[in-house]
Amino acid sequence: MIVALKHFFFQHEDAAQVLIYAGLITSLWLAEFIFSFEGLTKKWKHTSTNILFIFSALPIQLLLTVFIVMISNWAVLHHWGLINFVPFRHNRWVYYIVMFCMMDLCEYIYHVTMHKFDTLWKFHLVHHSDLRVDVSTTVREHPGETCIRTCFLMLWVFICGPAISVLLLRQLFQTFANVIAHTEFRLSHRVNKVVGLIFITPNLHHVHHHYQLPYTDCNYGDVLSIWDRLFGTYCELDKEETVFGIDTHMDEDTNARYLNIIKVPFQKLERKKE
Ligand SMILES: [Zn+2]
Ligand SMILES: [Zn+2]
Repeated sequence: MIVALKHFFFQHEDAAQVLIYAGLITSLWLAEFIFSFEGLTKKWKHTSTNILFIFSALPIQLLLTVFIVMISNWAVLHHWGLINFVPFRHNRWVYYIVMFCMMDLCEYIYHVTMHKFDTLWKFHLVHHSDLRVDVSTTVREHPGETCIRTCFLMLWVFICGPAISVLLLRQLFQTFANVIAHTEFRLSHRVNKVVGLIFITPNLHHVHHHYQLPYTDCNYGDVLSIWDRLFGTYCELDKEETVFGIDTHMDEDTNARYLNIIKVPFQKLERKKE
């Protein structure tokens, strides 16, 4: 059974990643529903808006992944990329750990960039405009941002030069980390203190979804929280004080309609309040 699964995973990486993603989101969604004791209609209404973003993201993601694979193959073949300057890179452990950290730092830089440039923020704010954060918020991404994110990934692959195996492993970690970061299940204060030393927890990512500055512009980390600690963007906020959304787009009706949300990047930008 395990051998068959392994064979399937390496033969059909894209399909396997999509299946893992779908399975994880569905099981956590059901767990959230069971433990929150709220009506199915209310939870489904929220999910049904977010789920529409999958249909625009998936074709873009799959199409552009072809280019990422091409760049990675080219970089490995030509010994191109920052990895070639790392001492002891021929040791498997060193190679995978350094590459993973390099790519995670790139994702941190990408996220900060999306917040700091107005044109990019207009696309990224769609993710932040969810007035409730649950596991379905993970897939709430404007198709324009899917395109921008994948192009940035091409750039990072070109700069760092990771092999396909690194990208696959990283994608797997990233999928788990991103889905878990958006669940309604928070860690206890004590566990969060320990896990949050290295990883982005739901507690930490919920702070990033708080509707007002300075919290919106903190905890940018993707899988690791070490970059936020290192660059001074780490912060904490209690659950009771956290309000999801973004202060410039707090209208519940507008945020619940896919066709309204999709137009946001093409409208005049309102400034986040300092
Ligand atoms: Zn953000
Ligand atoms: Zn998020």
